[in-house]
Amino acid sequence: MKPEALLHPTEKGLYCPPGDFHIDPVRPVDRALITHGHADHARAGHAHVMATRETLDIMAIRYGEDFAGATQEAAYGEVVTINGVTVSWHPAGHVLGSAQVAVEKDGMRIVASGDYKRRPDPTCTGFDVVPCDVFITEATFGLPVFTHPDDAGEVGRLMESLKRFPERAHLVGAYALGKAQRVIALIRQAGYTETIFIHGAMEKLCTYYGDRGIDLGPLAPATIEKGAKDQFAGKVIVGPPSAFADRWARRFPDPVACFASGWMRVRQRARQRGVELPLIISDHSDWDELTQTIRDTGASEVWVTHGREEALVRWCELHQIRARPLNLVGYEDEAE
Ligand SMILES: [Zn+2]
Repeated sequence: MKPEALLHPTEKGLYCPPGDFHIDPVRPVDRALITHGHADHARAGHAHVMATRETLDIMAIRYGEDFAGATQEAAYGEVVTINGVTVSWHPAGHVLGSAQVAVEKDGMRIVASGDYKRRPDPTCTGFDVVPCDVFITEATFGLPVFTHPDDAGEVGRLMESLKRFPERAHLVGAYALGKAQRVIALIRQAGYTETIFIHGAMEKLCTYYGDRGIDLGPLAPATIEKGAKDQFAGKVIVGPPSAFADRWARRFPDPVACFASGWMRVRQRARQRGVELPLIISDHSDWDELTQTIRDTGASEVWVTHGREEALVRWCELHQIRARPLNLVGYEDEAE
C-alpha cells in the first residue's frame, strides 16, 4: 500500500479514504479526529469528533457544548479500529490533551503528530516517540536559527525584572490555551507564590487546567478597582497578546511589556510589537527537536506541514530520508 492511499491532503484537511475520516479538518466533515484544542486544528461543526477527554472539554469551553453532533473520547495508548483502519492516540507534549494520531493498515503506519514539542512541560503529558513508516511533522520553527533556550532561564529573567522594577506592573502576553497556563506554572516553579492576575479571556481555561489537577497557584481577575491604579505595582498580569494592543493594557502602572513566544527569538518581531522583555518560550519544537524527533521515529519518509517546510525537507534529503511538503491550508501558529 502506498502511504498516500492511507492518508492524503484534501481541501478539507488530511483524509484517510479507507477509514473515511479526516484529521484536524479545517471545514466541517462527517468524522473528525482532532489532535488538540487550538482553533486552527479544532473547529466546530463536525458531525462526529474523536479526541482526548481534555481536547473535547476545551472545545466545549471555546465553542459551547454543541460544538459537534457526537463526540467520542480517546485515551492515550488507546487503540480503535475505524472501518478497518487501526488508529491509536499518543501524547504530543504541546498543550493539555494534545495527541499524535497513528493510523495503520496492511503493515503501513503513518503518524500525524499535530503540533508537538519535546521538552518537559508541567501542564501536559510529555511527547511519546511512536515508531512509524511515515512521520507527519509540523515545521513552525523549521529553520536551524530557531533554537529555544531553557524555559527556566527565560522565566528567571522575568523574576529579575520584578525585583529590579518593583513599582511597575509586568504584563505577560501569552496565548490563552496552553502558553498562558505553562508560563504561570513555570513562574510557580521559579518559587513565585504571590497572586497572579489574569485577563478575563483566560479565566475558564485556567480554571479547567486546575480542575484537571494542574496547580497554577493563586489567580485573580485583573480588574482595576476605582482609584486603585497602584494595586498592580510589581505584580504579574497574564493576558492574551491581542489584549495588549487595546485600552486594557493602558490601565496598568508603567507596565513592562513581556511576551512569551518562540517568535521572540527574532528581535525585530519583539521590537515591532513593542515588547520590552521578550521571553523565548515555545510550545512548538525548535530545529533540534524537529530533527531529533524525525530520527527517533525511524520513519523512512517524512511529510512536512505548516511552517517552514523547505529547510526540513532538505535536511531529510541530506539524511537519506524521503521527504515532501504537505500543502495543507488553514493552519496558523495561533499558539505562538
Ligand atoms: Zn497548536
